[in-house]
Amino acid sequence: MSAFDYDLFVIGGGSGGVRSGRLAAALGKKVAIAEEFRYGGTCVIRGCVPKKLYVYASQFAEHFEDAAGFGWTVGESRFDWAKLVAAKEQEIARLEGLYRKGLANAGAEILDTRAELAGPNTVKLLASGKTVTAERIVIAVGGHPSPHDALPGHELCITSNEAFDLPALPESILIAGGGYIAVEFANIFHGLGVKTTLIYRGKEILSRFDQDMRRGLHAAMEEKGIRILCEDIIQSVSADADGRRVATTMKHGEIVADQVMLALGRMPNTNGLGLEAAGVRTNELGAIIVDAFSRTSTPGIYALGDVTDRVQLTPVAIHEAMCFIETEYKNNPTSPDHDLIATAVFSQPEIGTVGITEEEAARKFQEIEVYRAEFRPMKATLSGRKEKTIMKLVVNAADRKVVGAHILGHDAGEMAQLLGISLRAGCTKDDFDRTMAVHPTAAEELVTMYQPSYRVRNGERVG
Ligand code: NDP
Repeated sequence: MSAFDYDLFVIGGGSGGVRSGRLAAALGKKVAIAEEFRYGGTCVIRGCVPKKLYVYASQFAEHFEDAAGFGWTVGESRFDWAKLVAAKEQEIARLEGLYRKGLANAGAEILDTRAELAGPNTVKLLASGKTVTAERIVIAVGGHPSPHDALPGHELCITSNEAFDLPALPESILIAGGGYIAVEFANIFHGLGVKTTLIYRGKEILSRFDQDMRRGLHAAMEEKGIRILCEDIIQSVSADADGRRVATTMKHGEIVADQVMLALGRMPNTNGLGLEAAGVRTNELGAIIVDAFSRTSTPGIYALGDVTDRVQLTPVAIHEAMCFIETEYKNNPTSPDHDLIATAVFSQPEIGTVGITEEEAARKFQEIEVYRAEFRPMKATLSGRKEKTIMKLVVNAADRKVVGAHILGHDAGEMAQLLGISLRAGCTKDDFDRTMAVHPTAAEELVTMYQPSYRVRNGERVG
């Protein structure tokens, strides 16, 4: 008989926690999982899933306008924020139920409580005050939006946590940040009819993406009517007599808006988790330090997902969980592979990307070939909408391998998923050229760009 109450105790019911708990339980391990809020975690409850639903909601205004070019007359349209929030809530409640069901069916014990470490193999359950022991503990507690404490008036601002459930749709919003969340929400709110301003400290939004994507999206967002203020920051936020927010910016004076939203990165949920009691080390950002097998500094304690500050993406947390199971319960040491992660920004238009940017490739390889196409999507010919699709393949000239693929346009996220397979498989540009096109699609451009648009040799563009 085991000396512990459980084989595995999982703290956190998000993507990484649920996957590790469910798989371990399905293998016959005695598993308990504790969640203090709602099962499903950031992704399901206040991240990817509701975000994508809101993206769909925000696209209808353009669909209604575009319909005219195809012969349709659309009647008067009206948007009801409360209806969207309620529909979203119903869907995430359904998904939360599925997460619970999956765990229960696998035989895991589901606990609705905050859990904290009380020692190396010991967890304290706050709801009951009980202490339990486990041979292995997985910490998968995720993160939260940075509250940006240093900003005077930050308590008057909202983050993505509140944005989904605002009591009313604001008439205007100022969003700070230039990353995934700021850009996605700027497009959502604008599409729903909110006067939207984005303020970002850098020269160009989406700092870690390919320049063509960054510039192309910036131009497309401005064309839609989103105001983008780069190289500026909010210095303070106050409330006026009408309860509106007044943001003082460094370069653009005062901006008055119904809401100010901060999307300035996310922080790991490690405060008060008892990490010190258990000897689990964190970095300067509070993220748990792990080795290649998600092992923390304390034997028997593992950490997965956003709490580790490796790559903050749902599929990455799930992958890390599966590697943990392989390593610890299937005698098959497997370390998570964080290379070539395809990703999408659900902006409007979307960005889909995998591999490295042109700039990174130019630094890494002596010579690269860049294949680039910019065109009006077919739908825009009749809708009359002024929009462009940009596609770009970055190729290492020495071995012809495609090292980066970047798309701005409709369904770019879907394309990035498939391009991810090609890049993973190590496909060369010749493999792309040999592939028959699917016509008429936008994606066919990816296999019909036969001549490089330009080359970059030793960091210099050479035509
Ligand atoms: P990001 O890291 O993407 O962006 C943070 C933004 O805040 C950057 O533009 C950054 O600027 C800026 N910033 C940070 N600190 C400051 C500061 N002190 N003053 C002014 N600006 C600042 O974080 P997000 O919050 O947007 O998203 C968190 C993570 O969640 C992402 O990294 C992503 O992994 C994940 N996510 C993924 C999505 C998807 O897959 N579609 C959607 C949403 C989130 P700078 O660039 O100059 O550093």
